Amino acid sequence: MTSPHDLFIDGQWRPAADGRRFPVHDPADGSELAQFAAATEADCLAAVDAAADALASWSATPPRQRSELLRACFDLLTEEREQLAALIVAENGKAYADAIGEAAYATEFFRWFAEEAVRIGGDFRLSPSGDKTIVVRRDPIGVAVLVTPWNFPAAMATRKIAPALAAGCSVVLKPASQTPLTAAYVVDVLRRVGVPAGVVNLVTPVPAGPAVSAMLHHPAVRKLSFTGSTEVGRVLLHEAADQVVSSSMELGGNAPFVVLPGADVEAAVEGAMVAKMRNGGSACTAANRFYVHDSLVDEFSTRITTAMKAVTMGPGADHSNDLGALVSPEERDKVAGLVDRAVAEGANLTLGGGGQPSGGAFYPPTVLTDVKHGTEINQTEIFGPVAAIVAFSDVDEAVAMANDTIYGLIAYVYGDPAQALSVAQRIDAGMVAVNRGVLSDPAAPFGGTKQSGLGREGSSEGILEFLEEKYIGIEV
Ligand code: NAD
Repeated sequence: MTSPHDLFIDGQWRPAADGRRFPVHDPADGSELAQFAAATEADCLAAVDAAADALASWSATPPRQRSELLRACFDLLTEEREQLAALIVAENGKAYADAIGEAAYATEFFRWFAEEAVRIGGDFRLSPSGDKTIVVRRDPIGVAVLVTPWNFPAAMATRKIAPALAAGCSVVLKPASQTPLTAAYVVDVLRRVGVPAGVVNLVTPVPAGPAVSAMLHHPAVRKLSFTGSTEVGRVLLHEAADQVVSSSMELGGNAPFVVLPGADVEAAVEGAMVAKMRNGGSACTAANRFYVHDSLVDEFSTRITTAMKAVTMGPGADHSNDLGALVSPEERDKVAGLVDRAVAEGANLTLGGGGQPSGGAFYPPTVLTDVKHGTEINQTEIFGPVAAIVAFSDVDEAVAMANDTIYGLIAYVYGDPAQALSVAQRIDAGMVAVNRGVLSDPAAPFGGTKQSGLGREGSSEGILEFLEEKYIGIEV
């Protein structure tokens, strides 16, 4: 496994200014994978300076040339997909199938935004008086700070880097400290295809707070693109406010999965297994609250329990395992605590829970029935392989419960297509899957409403987050 362990600043891999490092662990067995450079605040500011110096020439680089570099990243990462997947497995712990799926999804953003780089539009209008010409250009917003989580260490980085570079912005990436190796690998691919020095920089300050704050107060920074928890997102919005830095936020979710009366239960369980178990449940899009109609709840619970029982759990390095480890023992304990308290609150544990297998941050596939709406497990992002099922008797009640959350990222609805579509329209979320268990697609705008975020990633909307409109008025 080869991936840089240093900071990437102004085109050079280099250790932290004070030489400090932090360990990166394999969550499947707790072993140490690497000692990664811990960036000082000065390193982070040097990375912003490098990005600021590179901005003028990168933003003036012809879009076709930027596009070709992004396309070269797509080609190289496609060739090296197995290496990328192996790194993801090693430091994140997820199953191989999830890792190779993420590698493909992550790589796709380079192809998608290579195509978008040469399609940055503008606008031309006449004023109502007819004697003025209004030209609207879209220019790169400037230096962008990108902060990403550990659950999709490749895709969350590429979903930001690719549109930023396509738009003509230079960036400083701050990956999660649990998973810096994947991010470093991606950044090194950008270097290898010839992205100029300073355009992409990588820093890993530990703890993150003070250094990210310092970067957001650097006058060159004009954009913050964050993916992570709602809690940290709120903090960063406050930090960004001081210099009025434009902010895009992809935050937490608490996805409802609604099974309407008359739904095909077999299809619903098949979709539920994907919506729940993709990435071992550690996904902002993971189905978190199963609302199943009274008439179907027994059959649904039995079938999903059977499907969950068939899931094999173990290290992702063994490609036959369906479910890997959680990212850390702390995450595992968080999930275990939620399940234990749900049971104490009256939920019925039909599968899983309980003691942990020895070694590694594993938590078994778990099913809870008779969960009450509004209880802790129902209102908290579980981020693990736990299906918590609530029965409902009335569709309006299901819609009200689905909407009863601070989050609005994604929802799933299974049922007769016409009824499911009408329910989908009433759910307050940025994305709704109708009779499907997965929605992520580079061509679709990804993002949430309410406290799940601000802005959209991927698709033609995703590049707009890194562009600023400029109106030039011309006397005709
Ligand atoms: P997190 O919020 O703890 O951390 C995210 C990133 O922010 C990491 O790089 C972390 O080091 C950094 N960070 C933490 N505290 C900070 C601070 N005070 N100042 C600056 N940076 C700070 O989230 P996580 O645990 O890494 O990831 C899980 C969360 O991410 C979940 O809530 C999940 O729903 C969310 N997520 C959302 C999406 C989406 O697209 N909406 C996608 C993936 C994950």
